[in-house]
Amino acid sequence: MRDGLKAVPDILRSRRFGRGRPQGVPEGFQGVPAFDEPMRDQIVEHLKFAAELGVAGVSTDPAWRTRVQQATGSAETNSPGEPVASEPVMFVTRETLADIKADISDDCRRCKLHTLGRKQVVFGVGNPDADLMFVGEAPGADEDEQGVPFVGRAGQLLTKIIEAIGLTRAEVYIANVIKCRPPGNRNPEPDEVEQCEPFLFRQIDTIKPKVIVALGKFAAQCLLRTTDPITRLRGREFKYREAILIPTYHPAYLLRTPSAKRDVWDDMKKVRAILNG
Ligand code: URA
Repeated sequence: MRDGLKAVPDILRSRRFGRGRPQGVPEGFQGVPAFDEPMRDQIVEHLKFAAELGVAGVSTDPAWRTRVQQATGSAETNSPGEPVASEPVMFVTRETLADIKADISDDCRRCKLHTLGRKQVVFGVGNPDADLMFVGEAPGADEDEQGVPFVGRAGQLLTKIIEAIGLTRAEVYIANVIKCRPPGNRNPEPDEVEQCEPFLFRQIDTIKPKVIVALGKFAAQCLLRTTDPITRLRGREFKYREAILIPTYHPAYLLRTPSAKRDVWDDMKKVRAILNG
């Protein structure tokens, strides 16, 4: 758990929170008024419900409570002598990209790529609230050097594609299935994908884009869990988690096959229409 965050199950198990213990404030909640037995039961029920919903933890940072009080204005609206409502506890429901990045770590050793010459982990770049996310395969030499996805020749073409639909790189989010460069730009291997793809899924669940563009066969097959060739996948729209997924050709393929740009442009017009929708 992050600093200032208490895991819900830990709170429920905490010595001072359990039944039969002296009333008072559980560890980490100093500064919150003491609560009586019925209120404690209510809070326990509330925390259990939150835990079932997958709430990650509860912030013990006093700043959260201050903000809530300002937002509700409860302190101002109470008459003198009236009991002040106990201060609400803020639930923290979503991890951030920074959490995921820290979890991967700059020195990730989960798969063999760390022994095969990669210089750094290439996490992802762009707007953490993006409506549009691009997913590629794996960093190449330029990306490995700079620590940023899609900055080489294929990346420059991707930048033009993004700008062609009236957006900038800073407005979208760009990531890869694999965060480390495979040697000689070979295809990622199944054990590498298995270790790394959960981080992409977490990035998607955190950003919650409206549209995901899968760049090339590898990303499309990984996200859609299919072995269908890109020629069968492209030109179609898929529901993917809470987003619409549009498979299209990889910019590196477009560098080799410029005639395919027309298809990618058709796909990008669809993307624009969905975002406008
Ligand atoms: N190709 C990819 O799939 N990803 C990059 O980041 C660069 C090239």
